[in-house]
Amino acid sequence: MSDCIFCKIINGEIPSAKVFENEHVYAFLDISQVTKGHTLVIPKIHKENVYELTDDIASTLFKEVPKIANAIKEAYNPIGLNVLNNNGEHAGQSVFHFHMHLIPRYGEGDGFG
Ligand code: 5GP
Ligand code: ZN
Repeated sequence: MSDCIFCKIINGEIPSAKVFENEHVYAFLDISQVTKGHTLVIPKIHKENVYELTDDIASTLFKEVPKIANAIKEAYNPIGLNVLNNNGEHAGQSVFHFHMHLIPRYGEGDGFG
């Protein structure tokens, strides 16, 4: 999708701090980190929200989440990690290319929740 920020990140038009990449999946640091290491995981194919994901895309995408979560754990040493996804404006979605937030947690006062 030509006017999608995350499609532009995937094709390199907008720079990003890459955390993980394979043929179908891209993970990068959120530009506005709610905690240190806040990472977004997206399918390379443009799908707006969870309702549009095929079984194949969903499994290909989620298959990589444990690996990415472990990389975050190694790099930042959090004491917890939230995996979140917003669908629709009223649920807090602001970029309409499906993404999961991986948010490392550091205890009280870490700025989230
Ligand atoms: P949502 O609110 O849709 O669940 O999450 C969208 C996320 O994308 C937000 O946390 C926001 O900070 C992040 N974001 C928006 N634009 C950019 C960008 O250009 N680069 C990166 N790395 N993150 C972005
Ligand atoms: Zn897109």
